[in-house]
Amino acid sequence: MIATDPRLAEPTHGDTPQLYAKRVPVFPRKIDGPFRRFKWAVMVACLAVYWVTPWLRWNRGAFAPDQAVLVDLAHRRFYMFAIEIWPHEFYFVAGLLIMAGIGLFLVTSVVGRAWCGYACPQTVWTDLYQHIDRLIDGDRNAQLRLHNAPWTGSKLARRLLKWSVWLVVAFMTGGAWIFYFADAPTLQRQFWTGVADPVAYITVGLLTLTTFVLGGFMREQVCIYMCPWPRIQSAMLDEKSLLVTYKHWRGEPRGSLKTAHRHLETGLAAVGDCIDCHQCQAVCPTGIDIRDGAQIGCITCGLCIDACDKAMAQIGRPRGLIDYCTLEDSAREARGQADTPVLKTILRPRTLIYFGVWAAIGMGLLFMLGTRTRLTLSVAKDRNPDYVQLSGGAVRDGFTVKLRNMEDRPRRVTVATAGISGARIFTDDMDDHAARGALAMVVPADTTLRLRLYLLGPKGAKPGAVLFQLKATDREGGQDQVRSTFSTPEGNGQ
Ligand code: SF4
Ligand code: SF4
Repeated sequence: MIATDPRLAEPTHGDTPQLYAKRVPVFPRKIDGPFRRFKWAVMVACLAVYWVTPWLRWNRGAFAPDQAVLVDLAHRRFYMFAIEIWPHEFYFVAGLLIMAGIGLFLVTSVVGRAWCGYACPQTVWTDLYQHIDRLIDGDRNAQLRLHNAPWTGSKLARRLLKWSVWLVVAFMTGGAWIFYFADAPTLQRQFWTGVADPVAYITVGLLTLTTFVLGGFMREQVCIYMCPWPRIQSAMLDEKSLLVTYKHWRGEPRGSLKTAHRHLETGLAAVGDCIDCHQCQAVCPTGIDIRDGAQIGCITCGLCIDACDKAMAQIGRPRGLIDYCTLEDSAREARGQADTPVLKTILRPRTLIYFGVWAAIGMGLLFMLGTRTRLTLSVAKDRNPDYVQLSGGAVRDGFTVKLRNMEDRPRRVTVATAGISGARIFTDDMDDHAARGALAMVVPADTTLRLRLYLLGPKGAKPGAVLFQLKATDREGGQDQVRSTFSTPEGNGQ
């Protein structure tokens, strides 16, 4: 059972609970240990990937941009290394988003809130900003002193220095997002010479501001009050999910070292392993006390494990009073039984179902990617008028055709009709006498060719609507076909 944030219940006015809770500032103490080092590694990796990706190049030939990852809104394309997604293929993006969602479910059911603790952008930025705080103001105690000190010239100078560094970091990180939406080297030159599109400056301004506010001032409040994910996760966790857990059965009754010694000397019952040093709470980036049980505020970053292991080492007791542990294993340990084997914890029906669905969607997307046609055709029939009866008695229907060449080279394509014998086609830059059974044309690389196409019906065509196919074929065997109808007036050819 996940407890709600205890701070929600704190502020009261008389007997009436208040819906608004003023933020209690958090000044996490510096800590070193395996989880802290892992967090550094993930932070560096995430920021490096984020910064470097827009500058990677990928050769797609002369007709497409050479940026490896690019969301080209102007031309409505999404490039990701060898993959190019067109607007009509948005289902690939939707599929990837669904996979990301199910992947999060899978990760949560196997290793709890690992995303929140290590890789979520809000966590990465908050961590970075807390480190800047320590560099400028000092560790927890110095920050607390400065926070409680009256406003003086020196406090103001420190604050201005810190906010300036926050702002530079926000600009360099949040602002860098724009490089995913245009050629990065070009946009950077334009940006600094003041000739970039105003949208670029506005976007950088907004992203800098939101990073500055969310990472600098709101921090853990985003996780506790704004983000829906902790609520969803609370519903997904069960007794087999890995959580950062304080082992009550081992830590309680808690008491200082002094108390423990006094109990030993006077023959009173022994106290638990928790020496009530509050180090777990002091290092927590969200300021909670994990000894109160699992909470929405716990992003499972593991820093309290580092702190408590250090405390245990100092008093010569085994590590792991706070540890990554399933509720089931914690109960087993309390009874003196061995932990559930790791494989059994990971390979359970829920995780296997998530993995199965995730893998099936992934395989489906890969299959569609491998078999998708790079030449596509779409057709919209004119409805007003449905047909035109020419002076010689022939009937002409009009169509708007889109011929899409998704390859990075021009292609010679033949467009022809099928299923309606004797029909001839021509475009609006041709005379109807030049109409023929098939038209050849060159479709430039990476382009959608829009055509006005007319179909002249065969003499004696049946009245009403006749179903036919329009086919596009290139020399290498690429092809696509669509169906449409040819309308003729009642009594035509009778
Ligand atoms: S309680 Fe521990 S694991 Fe949870 S957020 Fe705080 S330090 Fe991280
Ligand atoms: S760090 Fe460990 S010993 Fe210290 S208060 Fe927290 S749980 Fe108890």
